Amino acid sequence: MNNNTPPLDITRKVVIVGAGPVGCLAAIAFAKMKWQVEVYEARPGKGDNVLVTHCLDSFFQDLRLSSSKAAAQQRSINLAISSRGIAALRAVDASAAERFLQTVIPMRGRMIHDRQGNLQSQQYDKDGQCINSIDRTLLNEGLLEEASATPNIHLNFEHKVLSADFDQRVLFLRDGNSGADVRVKFDLCIAADGSHSIIRRQLMRVVRMNFQQEYIPHEYIELKMPAGHDEHGNPAFLLDPNHLHIWPRHSFMLIALPNKVITHAASMCFPPNEIQFQDKTFTCTLFAPTVEFDRLITREDILLWFQNHFPDALSLLGEDKLLKDFEKNPRSPLITTKLTPYHYKDRCVILGDAAHSMVPFFGQGLNCGLEDVRVLLTLLQEECVVPTRAMPNSGDPESDFIDQRLAKALARYSASRHEDVVAICELAMDNYIEMRHSVTTPVYIIKKALDHL
Ligand code: FAD
Repeated sequence: MNNNTPPLDITRKVVIVGAGPVGCLAAIAFAKMKWQVEVYEARPGKGDNVLVTHCLDSFFQDLRLSSSKAAAQQRSINLAISSRGIAALRAVDASAAERFLQTVIPMRGRMIHDRQGNLQSQQYDKDGQCINSIDRTLLNEGLLEEASATPNIHLNFEHKVLSADFDQRVLFLRDGNSGADVRVKFDLCIAADGSHSIIRRQLMRVVRMNFQQEYIPHEYIELKMPAGHDEHGNPAFLLDPNHLHIWPRHSFMLIALPNKVITHAASMCFPPNEIQFQDKTFTCTLFAPTVEFDRLITREDILLWFQNHFPDALSLLGEDKLLKDFEKNPRSPLITTKLTPYHYKDRCVILGDAAHSMVPFFGQGLNCGLEDVRVLLTLLQEECVVPTRAMPNSGDPESDFIDQRLAKALARYSASRHEDVVAICELAMDNYIEMRHSVTTPVYIIKKALDHL
């Protein structure tokens, strides 16, 4: 499916570092603008250098592999996708966006669980706007599939980028298959290599970048709430799936998002919707200060703490399952990073978590990363950065013109994007206090009720 030979009219090459969701969306966007796209990803791929699911068996196999991979990478299994992220997916690939939307569960409000087990539903919007729970692996693998089916995108797995020379426009990588060191030339480099971005570090050497990083005093651990059964013995959700569930306890909180897995990959082998694997579990995430976690040493400590703070959740999670998850799943830190600018001349720009990691309490980290791609795409189109014919990289008037327009588009991106990104990062930080504390205060509850009158 991948073709190393680009169509003749394509001479501009963009290299994308990182095949997470943001890197994949950027690859598809640039391919549509007729760039030659090469994606370099440190993770292993599968078969034919590409991580694709071709049939039901391998779908389930991939899903298992990826789920354990996700756990190993200490990332959430599902996440909330909002209109910000959906608009970005639609702007780049409307049909793929619609396929993803078939796999989501709308969460129309949050459900507050108090210590006594009382529930209070707080709708997000009186006109029905909502956020959506989506499977992280399905989203990432779905985007990878779209990319791998695009002729002018070449995906390279097990290729870890080690450094970059932006002035020479060269990327230095280690090919994990052969162990060889590889040099790759590029016209434009897009960094979508996540929170600990190597490209960001390289960029700091040539750009006067202001960079700020903060670990918050809280950590998180993921716990799985199993499915129950309905009266016919079929799997059923133990909680209302159309809510984001929150157990706010002031200095810490537990949340739960529903899981529904539908193989959109089925579109490759089966009519869409024919195969539906209903998961009906919840992924719960416990956020708490490190000092609180440090007190939970023995199995008895953990159970007692849950009985005190989350008795209703404990009965749904199950004691054995909870203890196993606590033993098996990592405790992960939460980081926020801000930086500016995001680009260097006409040859590098950083997107997604590489440019702005944020705490997950606003559910906007990925949404914001996908939006980065949409905003960049708009600016490139406005600046008419569209190579129309084969051309050398310099010394050709049209080529030089495109370089200038590209430099201008990237400068406009840095200048216009920063304020919005910082605002989203700060809203994310503020929302932690709102979710774990403010939602329980009487003033807040009255205000929410009045909003809906
Ligand atoms: P990543 O997903 O980190 O992908 C980066 C890729 O680059 C990886 O595949 C990595 O292997 C690769 N890479 C790294 N270094 C190299 C290298 N040197 N060479 C080659 N490849 C490399 N966001 C939301 O919008 N909604 C939510 O509900 C939400 N919930 C979250 C819950 C938790 C607990 C956490 C931690 C985050 C959550 N987020 C959420 C944030 C979201 O997960 C991230 O914003 C998103 O994954 C960032 O995507 P990305 O493509 O920029 O980076």
